[in-house]
Amino acid sequence: MKFGTKAIHAGVEADTATGAIMTPIYQTSTYVQDGVGNHKGYAYSRTQNPTRSSLERNLAALENGKYAACFGSGLAAIDCVIKMLKPGDEVISTNDLYGGSYRLFKTIFEKYGIVFHFVDMKDVVEVHRMINDNTKLIWVETPTNPLLNIIDIQAMAMVAKNSNLMLCVDNTFATPYLQNPLELGADIVMHSVTKYLGGHSDVVMGALITSDQEIATEMYRIQNSSGAITSPMDSFLALRGIKTLHLRMDRHCQNAREVAHFLKNHSRVEKVNWPGFDDHPNHDIAKKQMRGFGGMLSFTMKGNHLEEALEIVEKVKIFALAESLGGVESLIGHPATMTHASIPKEIREKSGIVDSLIRLSIGIEDAEDLIKDLKQAL
Ligand SMILES: *Cc1c(COP(=O)(O)O)cnc(C)c1O
Repeated sequence: MKFGTKAIHAGVEADTATGAIMTPIYQTSTYVQDGVGNHKGYAYSRTQNPTRSSLERNLAALENGKYAACFGSGLAAIDCVIKMLKPGDEVISTNDLYGGSYRLFKTIFEKYGIVFHFVDMKDVVEVHRMINDNTKLIWVETPTNPLLNIIDIQAMAMVAKNSNLMLCVDNTFATPYLQNPLELGADIVMHSVTKYLGGHSDVVMGALITSDQEIATEMYRIQNSSGAITSPMDSFLALRGIKTLHLRMDRHCQNAREVAHFLKNHSRVEKVNWPGFDDHPNHDIAKKQMRGFGGMLSFTMKGNHLEEALEIVEKVKIFALAESLGGVESLIGHPATMTHASIPKEIREKSGIVDSLIRLSIGIEDAEDLIKDLKQAL
């Protein structure tokens, strides 16, 4: 089955009781049993819920995986992966990763004795150098947020296999429509469903997908034991959003291409980060592992003045100044003071998140209007 058909049909079927074509919102906490332990596969909604199960089957199919689990947020999904580790274990992670992931690693899990190393993963040698007997997990985010760096998933999978490490890829920016990490050798794919999968800025949710049965057992055990599940209503909304994922992504990609070219030719713009440019440092890897370049881009201003960047993000009219990304509407953000404010300035600037950096989540409006808006603001 091809992607669009899977997006609409995988994991869902007409309700056997009523014929309802849309997966019902099973707003129930418990299920009646005929006798002790004799139930229809559902005993308690923290463990399993039919609406959530449909979504989990759908997501597994989209990533060409066997098992999926949904959580109350993307961070709750990441939390589940780190809980598979124990004190003393070490993690090697991308250095310019999502600010919330960094905060979770540093301020929550370091306390429990898990050690995190943040490296430039474009440099495979650097990753090798960090591996020791305690290393258990490689955490990759690609494209990275907000600099749109591309990390070679196959190269990281090779490093992970050679040292018997688990590889998890945060696939939020690319979505399963553009990139399938499991097929490139990853063990787990993580999504903030909040973004493109949900697609309409109305749900906060996370997901993990794997084909490894042992990992899946741990994943479901933690999902049930820690209880950071998502609701039946949100599962329904995510399922509805996913039905148009392929259509939306095509438009996101096309609009981002047009905006990226406009910005590149603007006299006040210093640099545009978009993996579709021939001169993007990892353009070849992006072409190899992605089917499109996505709807995210960022740019810096000549002179690198904080005030100018702040002025621009307030001057736009169609773009909304907001955190988050991946919805149908275009958003503008200022990473240094918004999404990445929790990363110390020194570390932030070292990885390129400078004061004039502006991030755009390109929506599915008409590109011409988006460009006009940026033009007046610049
Ligand atoms: C938003 C985001 C997350 C966190 O997801 P939430 O749903 O906000 O908890 C993780 N990784 C990336 C790349 C994100 O954009």
